[in-house]
This record gives sequence, C-alpha cells and structure tokens, in this order.
Amino acid sequence: MADRGDDLFLFGDDFEAILDILDEDEVLQEQFSTAASEVQSSEIVCSDCGKKYKTRGGYQRHRAAKHSPNPNEHRLTLTPSILAEIVRNALKNIYQREVFAEELREELKQYEYAVLEEGTQEFSVMKALFEGYSKNGNAEKFYGNYYAQVPLKSPTFFKGLSRNAATLLATKVADFIL
Ligand SMILES: [Zn+2]
Repeated sequence: MADRGDDLFLFGDDFEAILDILDEDEVLQEQFSTAASEVQSSEIVCSDCGKKYKTRGGYQRHRAAKHSPNPNEHRLTLTPSILAEIVRNALKNIYQREVFAEELREELKQYEYAVLEEGTQEFSVMKALFEGYSKNGNAEKFYGNYYAQVPLKSPTFFKGLSRNAATLLATKVADFIL
C-alpha cells in the first residue's frame, strides 16, 4: 500500500516546486496578516444572504445553520455553487500574490472557471473529498486523498488552463476547502 509520500513523489518536480512555492507563500501570508490584520484577501461572501466571513470555517457553520435544507442535518454537502466560490477565492488568492510567477498569475487572473456539473466524475471526486473531510475533520487524510486524485489530473478539473496553472490552482483549492 503506497503511503502519502509515494503518491506525492509520482507527480515529479513540477508538483514539488509548486508545493515549495505555496509553502513560501504561506509564510509571506502570515507575515502580511500580522502586519495588517484588518486586510482580508479572501473574504467569503454568502451567495444567499450576503453575510461576510473571514474564515471558511465561519462561513461553513453559517451555511449549515442558516441555509441547510434540513436544519437537523449538520453534515456539509458540496454543491456546484460552493465549489465555484471556493475556486474563485483560490484564484483571487493566487493572482494577488507576487510570490507566484507573473505568467501564472496573468493566466489565472484571466481564467473564467466553468464550474463542474453535478453528475460528472470530477464533481463526484470533489464532493466525496469535501464531504469526507466535513465528516471526519482529518486534514492529513484529506490532503493525502486529494493529492492522489486531483493535482495529477488537474487539467480535467480546471479545463482550459495550462498544466502548471491548473496544478497550482488545484493545490490552492485544497487549502480553501479546509
Ligand atoms: Zn447566508
């Protein structure tokens, strides 16, 4: 049984490089948020009622509490519109950050994400990953499963992007799901 390390190794140097850049980005992001804690680069706006959230956790709790079709059901479900919002936030986060190569930022800035439709294989994969995490809250397990399925086939999840841009976006989307 391959462990998570082996799975990551399969993606080769490009993926490694992207993970390194993301790591560097996290550090800059932390420094930035310490310096200007009031500036939120990824404010989440509820598409149903317009309420704003600074964290995805806060937003998810709001969704479950206010917009769940069944108020007794606290398990979160991934819908195409939630996924689209996650992707939009991830895109914005990338193209606003100078740590990423100009070329990739430009490509992602101009990217019009066509949300995956319910019933497609890609959407089913995303839904299973998202709901698995919202059920067990295990981030490491989530990343392991996500990296084994999404970045490897990133151009099919984010159609129209170059492989590097799609892979970068795929890894950021993982961060925004958590
Ligand atoms: Zn709302």
